[in-house]
Amino acid sequence: MERFDAIVVGAGPAGTTAALVLARSGLRVALLERGAYPGAKNLMGGVLYTEVLASLVPDFRERGAPLERYVARRGLSILSAGAETALSFQTGAWDAPPHNHGYTVLRARFDRWYAGLAEEAGAELVCGVGVDRLLADGDGTTCGVAVRMPADASPAEGELRAPVVILADGVNSVLAEAAGLRPKPRPGHVALGIKETLALPRETIEDRFGLAGDQGVAWTYVGEATGGRRGAGFLYTNRDTLSVGLVVYAADLADSDVAPAELLDRFKEHPAVAPRLRDAEPLEYGAHLVPEGGYDRVPPLARDGLLLAGDAAGLVGASPRPQGSNYAMASGELAARAVLEAREAGDFSAAALSRYRDLLAESFVLKQLEHHRDWPGFVERNPHVFASWPAALTALVEAALRQDGREPQQREAELWDLFQRRVGVLPLATTAVQLRNALRILGYGKTDRLVEYLARNW
Ligand SMILES: Cc1cc2nc3c(=O)[nH]c(=O)nc-3n(C[C@H](O)[C@H](O)[C@H](O)COP(=O)(O)OP(=O)(O)OC[C@H]3O[C@@H](n4cnc5c(N)ncnc54)[C@H](O)[C@@H]3O)c2cc1C
Repeated sequence: MERFDAIVVGAGPAGTTAALVLARSGLRVALLERGAYPGAKNLMGGVLYTEVLASLVPDFRERGAPLERYVARRGLSILSAGAETALSFQTGAWDAPPHNHGYTVLRARFDRWYAGLAEEAGAELVCGVGVDRLLADGDGTTCGVAVRMPADASPAEGELRAPVVILADGVNSVLAEAAGLRPKPRPGHVALGIKETLALPRETIEDRFGLAGDQGVAWTYVGEATGGRRGAGFLYTNRDTLSVGLVVYAADLADSDVAPAELLDRFKEHPAVAPRLRDAEPLEYGAHLVPEGGYDRVPPLARDGLLLAGDAAGLVGASPRPQGSNYAMASGELAARAVLEAREAGDFSAAALSRYRDLLAESFVLKQLEHHRDWPGFVERNPHVFASWPAALTALVEAALRQDGREPQQREAELWDLFQRRVGVLPLATTAVQLRNALRILGYGKTDRLVEYLARNW
């Protein structure tokens, strides 16, 4: 039976980072990945925010990180059936390195490259190996894993031992569930991500989106993009491909009569989206869950001999600008640091490993999750923001811009009437206050004069 100083399950951003940090410190670490190679089963939009990567691998660009394009422009489109109201932002400042506003990446390439760095540092990466269960000694302390070997290997199963295991096996972590650290994700606390990669010549992408060199676009769509369901659509430019997809709250899909693939087709056919995808050839399609529970759903992160990192721990920045890969990397790094401290002290008990939670609390990961802890509740309580308000906005913009010889007073009266019928002052005010609270902006925490005013007047 093979013995290691640490075992990491899952070679996504969280697991690979943990293995990289541990291997650099001289530990014998096994990085176990059930896919044929790291990234083979992974999927994201996706924009990678590189601050954690840069701190661990400052020369990641020179070392050939497979980055597609840096984000030079961001856009938000509010869609209704057949119409688009859009906001776009770009600035020359984003064209200057270090491009902290993110790079588009394709995970199959990125994860493979990144796991290669962990291997170079000394981690023992084994692919095609699924971890079936955790091994525990007499008092329940985790002391290794039982693995299913690749199909052609003999024996078909095996056991690996280590005084500590880091579970970085993603959102569906059945191992964390079996260890009693967290329940199965409930539909209200996860979203389904579906994504297609489409091939399009590099020059066509640059002409169509007005890009030069390695510039890229990250565009978010709400409203009709998801058929009014909570969530969003996205379109990202890569070098010679486009990433297009949806992230939709699972609860809104559960009672939907439209299959996710059909929903994605409808999004792609929307008149605001279809021209951007014209002549692009489908290359691959995938689906994956995304944790959306936020701070209040983060489970206990340590048990005797066991730590939880990345999506397995629900550490995804549920906010208007969701991000997970950098949170996963940061949590992998901090889990590794907690393991190094525990090893120094010769103590892998839950109490010693609870240092991991303290490190996370000091980092942007738990600080940002806590800052946006009311966001999941805001989304749950305000389905109209996704369902009926996008069409209301279209109707208002359309009425405001219509050229039909109306008197200004007539136009104003029509707009006010439309607004009252489709939105309403009280719903707008209460939603705005809730949004302010969820994002903790605009005087959050000070005396809530607006709420008092509303309470007095309605
Ligand atoms: C559609 C979509 C769009 C997204 N867009 C973005 C974005 O634009 N930006 C962003 O930052 N984040 C985005 N995310 C979130 C991001 O992808 C995740 O937060 C991130 O991948 C989490 O990393 P991880 O290492 O924790 O888990 P994963 O990347 O899921 O990696 C887990 C790994 O564990 C392996 N594994 C699982 N079980 C076992 C087992 N039993 N044995 C061995 N190996 C196992 C898997 O094969 C996988 O390689 C998106 C997600 C989706 C689904």
